[in-house]
Amino acid sequence: MKLDSKIIGILGGGQLGRMSALAAARLGIKVHIYCPEPDSPASQVAAQTFIGTYDDKKRLKEFADSVDVISYEFENIPVETVRFLQKHKPVFPDDRLLEIAQHRPTEKKFLNDIGISTARWAVATKASEIDEAMADLRIAHAILKTTRFGYDGKGQMKFVHGDDAKAAWKSLGNQELIVEELVDFVCEISVIIARDKLGQTAIYGPILNEHRNHILAKSTVPAPIPEELSAHARAMTQLLADAVDLVGVLALEMFITREGTLLANEIAPRTHNSGHWTIDACVISQFEQHIRTVAGMPVGAPGRHSDAVMFNLIGMDAKKLAPWLEKKNACLHLYGKEEAKEGRKMGHVTILAE
Ligand code: AMP
Repeated sequence: MKLDSKIIGILGGGQLGRMSALAAARLGIKVHIYCPEPDSPASQVAAQTFIGTYDDKKRLKEFADSVDVISYEFENIPVETVRFLQKHKPVFPDDRLLEIAQHRPTEKKFLNDIGISTARWAVATKASEIDEAMADLRIAHAILKTTRFGYDGKGQMKFVHGDDAKAAWKSLGNQELIVEELVDFVCEISVIIARDKLGQTAIYGPILNEHRNHILAKSTVPAPIPEELSAHARAMTQLLADAVDLVGVLALEMFITREGTLLANEIAPRTHNSGHWTIDACVISQFEQHIRTVAGMPVGAPGRHSDAVMFNLIGMDAKKLAPWLEKKNACLHLYGKEEAKEGRKMGHVTILAE
């Protein structure tokens, strides 16, 4: 079969864009990156890079003119940027999913409306509403989160009834907050789904995720959880992808509570860190699915030929590569970032089971 030769534009220059561009190259597809920084991990492996801010319409138009279809690799791209680009070229996933994923209350309401359970939540628009919300939710322990731009544990804090609400409000930047019940979870999992234009899907996971300092440290597949829960987690993710008429890839992060129920926490409208093992443990990775679905090709079978554990290389971890280079069945990936700053994702290693 002859593939349509396409050029895909990706907004964002991080490692997710880099791994999508590498998958695209294998399919003979070129990627153009749009991002504000020069020499980004993605632009190092892309055919072309457009450096510009996300509100530079002239530059965005030049970028749109250079590609056939557009996607993005992180969710803090302004929705207005995507709407502007959609006037010129198709953007997948579309602005609607991005808008849902960018605002925690909209995201939680959307999930609840389609029948997906989350931790109980309420919005606080001023400090005094934090305690009111906790009283309404009948909770003594909460997590306060900024409603936008939170990631890797940034913009959130635990709050116990009786704590200083004004101090909490100030430390989170004097802005609208979501007040969430603190979930007593046994573990955190994620499911990744790719969906093509015909609505066919491929699902990876559930994946067991372990965090260190709020940053994903380790992902394990298969997640060692009962099959009934796994099936439920996959069904929830399928429901979400169909509800937003997804074209592309998304991940749903979930908690398994001590009572054995599943609660959705967050939607990532893109490829996900917990799916990096798919590059080495599957015939078709999440990144190839991203490229396939956005380029108008069918999703591929998501089968896994090996069980796997993925470790993120964070900050100085990237300076200690010798053991990984010697380890059997270890697939090392480095993202081409020069400075190993604390908390920065520098690469990952996937260990394939025998
Ligand atoms: P988030 O920014 O929503 O992905 O949250 C980052 C991390 O904080 C999650 O991976 C959990 O470990 C923890 N967390 C978030 N929300 C809650 C919650 N409602 N209850 C307990 N832990 C949470």
